[in-house]
Amino acid sequence: MTAPRPRPEILTIHPYVGGESKLPGVNRVVKLSSNEGAFGAPPAAREAFARMTDELHRYPDGAATELRRAIGARFGLDPARIVCGAGSDDLIYQLCLSYGGPGTEIVMTEHGFSIYKIAGEYAGSRVLKTPERNLTADVDAILTAVSPATRVVFLANPNNPTGSMLPEAEVERLRAGLPPEVLLVLDAAYAEYVERPDYEPGIRLVDAGENTVMTRTFSKVFGLGGMRIGWAYAPPAVVDVLNRVRGPFNVSIAAQEAAIAALQAPGWVEQSRAHNTKYRAILARNLETAGIRTWPSEGNFVLANLATTKAAEAADAYLRARGLIVRRVGGYGLPHCLRITVGTEEEVALVSAALSDFLAGRRG
Ligand SMILES: *Cc1c(COP(=O)(O)O)cnc(C)c1O
Repeated sequence: MTAPRPRPEILTIHPYVGGESKLPGVNRVVKLSSNEGAFGAPPAAREAFARMTDELHRYPDGAATELRRAIGARFGLDPARIVCGAGSDDLIYQLCLSYGGPGTEIVMTEHGFSIYKIAGEYAGSRVLKTPERNLTADVDAILTAVSPATRVVFLANPNNPTGSMLPEAEVERLRAGLPPEVLLVLDAAYAEYVERPDYEPGIRLVDAGENTVMTRTFSKVFGLGGMRIGWAYAPPAVVDVLNRVRGPFNVSIAAQEAAIAALQAPGWVEQSRAHNTKYRAILARNLETAGIRTWPSEGNFVLANLATTKAAEAADAYLRARGLIVRRVGGYGLPHCLRITVGTEEEVALVSAALSDFLAGRRG
């Protein structure tokens, strides 16, 4: 018997492992495993979604015209240079498929966001991971890895799951050191959370040339992960490519309406950022007090160093027994760590107390 067979490289791809959301036998689950934002979706976005129930038979506006206009107004960008996707993952796939391919290379950092590897291998590219320094992207290591076969370099800034960030000057140095024909993709999924003054999400570099793209998402600070919506800000030639290859109706009618409402919710981003900054520090301090090292994070999560894989496993099991789900990050080469989303005040207190009890129990 012969069976349909995919291209051989497809079967070497390791599927993406998402944050879990259910625990058998536990009624109340606190999910701190997917960085979904501490407050759910903005009320206006929920209302906009509910209003769409009579329109479900209608195709969406494939060009997402109103949404691109709203994004442009919010961020001071030309809507003609924005492309929307079913999550920024969608756009990352389209970029890899369009610019990568057999015989080409895609470069990412050692602990970079795992979708780059999946999408790059799907495209048929070889995906190279470059060493980091103290869990932070190393511009020189990236530049060293670039070869004539390199087509795309991905940098998540800030990065997930490490939380580390490159300042604007370093990203500029990266761009300046790359050949002009290499596409630099700056994934700024956590941009809204960053407070450091030396940060820039990528807009200036997109504007400065023809070879840099910035991707953004509604899945984090805007609390719309379940709606699947993200966007790219790109030079005209890249916008043209994405519009040729993307699904013609890749963003649903409800997602478009919810995203517009979320963008316009007064104070939502500011309040979320302020909460995150405060409780991220409290979470990190609580963990340090309990004897768990953390790394500085610019995102809405903290990477906790449990020192050994066994301890990370045991801590994860202990948390689960208490209804708390955090993220194991062995797939990112960090099996001794747990990534913990900054939740509400109560959730931060619960996860802090549980980890403190866990460590006290091990010492006692
Ligand atoms: C969460 C995340 C995304 C967003 O993915 P969506 O497909 O927009 O939900 C992109 N990049 C990084 C680094 C992320 O952590």
